[in-house]
Amino acid sequence: MISFLDLKSINRLYESSLKKSFQEVLDSGWYIMGEKLQEFEKEFASFVGTKYCIGVGSGLDALKIIFKAYKELSLLKDFDQVLVPANTYIASIISIVENNLTPIFIEPEFDSYNIDPNKIEDKITNKTKAILAVHLYGQCANMKKINTIAKKYNLLVIEDVAQAHGALHDNKLAGSLSNASAFSFYPGKNLGALGDGGAVCSSDESLKETILALRNYGSKKKYENIYIGYNSRLDELQAAFLLVKLKKLKEINQKRDDIAKRYLNSIKNPKITLPKIASFNDNHVWHLFVIRSKDRDNLQKYLSKNKIQTQIHYPIAPHKQKALKKYNSLDLPLTKKLHDEVLSLPLHECLKDSEVEYIIKTVNGF
Ligand SMILES: *Cc1c(COP(=O)(O)O)cnc(C)c1O
Repeated sequence: MISFLDLKSINRLYESSLKKSFQEVLDSGWYIMGEKLQEFEKEFASFVGTKYCIGVGSGLDALKIIFKAYKELSLLKDFDQVLVPANTYIASIISIVENNLTPIFIEPEFDSYNIDPNKIEDKITNKTKAILAVHLYGQCANMKKINTIAKKYNLLVIEDVAQAHGALHDNKLAGSLSNASAFSFYPGKNLGALGDGGAVCSSDESLKETILALRNYGSKKKYENIYIGYNSRLDELQAAFLLVKLKKLKEINQKRDDIAKRYLNSIKNPKITLPKIASFNDNHVWHLFVIRSKDRDNLQKYLSKNKIQTQIHYPIAPHKQKALKKYNSLDLPLTKKLHDEVLSLPLHECLKDSEVEYIIKTVNGF
C-alpha cells in the first residue's frame, strides 16, 4: 500500500537533530516560553518577512487570537462581517464564528481553488470589516486583487497560511501579504511539529503586543491581566523541533515540487482535471495535490484497490456541516462542485521515484 502520508519517514530525516534538540530542552529545565521559542519566533518572522512572529498552541488558535486581538483593539466588534472562502477547512470559519463575527461565504475560482476576488465586492456591506484569505492546498489566493479591494473599502486582511508555508505571490512569501497571518504546525503540514503548534505573523506592533498578552491569559506582566485571554503557547519542545525542520523547508518544498511536476507532466486521462499554478502566483508548495473527476468516488475506489491511498479535502463543505446549521441552506454551486469532485493523491518528500511512477501509471489506467 502506498500511504497518503508517512510522518514516520518524514521525521526520520531529522532524527539525530530532533533528539539533540529534545536533550537540550530537557536539560534546560524550562519548558514553556523559553529561549527556543524566542529563537524560533525570530527565525520564522525573518523567513516569512514580517517584523514579528508569536508562537501559539495551534493554527486554529492563531486565527482565533488574531480576531480576538482586533476586537480588543476596537477594530472589530460583535456581528461585523468577515468575507471568507466557502472552500476551506472548517477551522477558518470556526475562528470567525467563535469571535461572534459573521462569516460571509465567497465562491472559489478554479485556477487556484481559492476565493474568487471578482465575487468579493458584491458582498460588501456597511458591516463588512475584514477578509480572511485562505491559501488552500499550497498556493496563494489572489492577494494583489484582494488587497486592492480591501484598501478601497478599508477592510482588514488576514491570511490563513496553514497549508502554504513558503508559497510566493508577487515576490513575497505567504504570511507577509496582509495585516496578520496565521500558521499551523500540525504534523502533516509542510512545516510540521511533533504535536500541535501554530504562529501569528505580522508587522503591526500593537497587534503583536495584544497577542503576546492574549496567548498568556491576557497578561504581559506576571499576575496582571488586561484581557480575558487564553492559554495558547507554542511549547518549547515544539519550537526546538520546528527550528530544526525550518532549516530544510525550502529543500522539502522543492522535493514536493519535483514530484508535482512529474504528476503534471505525465498524468494524462480525459476523466481527470489536474491542478494549476495560477498565473498570479510565483510558485505552489503542494501541501496537497488535488485532482478532480466527475467520477471521483469510483476513482478513489479503483486507486484503493490498486493499493494507493488517497484522501478527500474536503468531503463536506463548512456551510453544510451540522456545526454550522445557520448556513446549511446557502446555495454555493461552485463550492459544491469542488467538494463532489476533488481527490488528493499522495505527495510528500519521502515518496519514492518508483511509487510516483506507479501512481502515474495507475491513474492513467482509470
Ligand atoms: C490545518 C488547518 C488549520 C488549523 O490548524 P490546526 O493547527 O490544526 O489548528 C486552519 N486552516 C487550514 C486551512 C488548515 O488546513
